[in-house]
Amino acid sequence: MRRLLIWAVIIGLLAGAVPATQAHPIDPTGYQVQLDFEALRQGTVGLVRVSGFSVAGARMRFLNRLIAFYPRGDAWYGLVAVNMEQNPNTYPLEVFVWFEDGRRQTWTHEVTVLDGEFIRQDVTLASNLGYLLEPEIDRAERARLMGIFSQVTPIHYWDGPFIKPTPGEFTSPFGAWRLYNESLWGRHTGIDMRGAMGTPMQATAAGRVVLAERMDVRGNYVLLDHGWGIYSGYAHLSEIHVTRGQVVRQGQVLGISGNTGRSSGPHIHWEMAVNGEWVDPSQFLEVSPP
Ligand SMILES: [Zn+2]
Repeated sequence: MRRLLIWAVIIGLLAGAVPATQAHPIDPTGYQVQLDFEALRQGTVGLVRVSGFSVAGARMRFLNRLIAFYPRGDAWYGLVAVNMEQNPNTYPLEVFVWFEDGRRQTWTHEVTVLDGEFIRQDVTLASNLGYLLEPEIDRAERARLMGIFSQVTPIHYWDGPFIKPTPGEFTSPFGAWRLYNESLWGRHTGIDMRGAMGTPMQATAAGRVVLAERMDVRGNYVLLDHGWGIYSGYAHLSEIHVTRGQVVRQGQVLGISGNTGRSSGPHIHWEMAVNGEWVDPSQFLEVSPP
């Protein structure tokens, strides 16, 4: 699994760079852009950090999406997420930085998207779940979730590293191509974890409950907004223990595992989205956003 703990430091180009002998010790338009990745796999997320004296804000464009930056400590942070179906290739990342005096700078970089090396799985659903193989049911549920993900909350709810929702081991990876009952192809939007019926499902990080209800594909479902465009979802629950609008702390029990929705047996499905793209949740266990 890709993930660099050490920043790959790239110094931003300075407009009218100040000569070393210049009397002023600090260039007011000096800034740094730092990436925590060298390349991004399909279905993963990367962190971009902008810092510098008098930086007043930043925004970036990647794969036709405009992405906000948020202040934290002495820097600004933004998250680039790559769709699991994005063609492996090299794409421009443009970072727009503005300064307290109103000046602006644009920093560009080529980002390579690598193949996610996703596996293929066959899934057999009970015959009474046949209606869940209608492509329209998938489409409608996806459209509803994408509508929610397009709302980006600037509040930073989480505090510290994200955690696994249950201790169970992973049984099915993110992004798998799935063929249901030899008729409907789908993609696995999260990861599955071993969990007998009745296992408590905990919040991976603090957040606000934006969905707590029965859905077609996901069954009983809880969706948390962690802020900065980061969401986590917990599917196929037998019971839901939170309500919409509630703010939950990390580790709080959101519900109890089950077998509701498009599920072929009791298990735990945990999924995460960043800036409107499904991303591999296991990445958040290795490095959490600041
Ligand atoms: Zn799953």
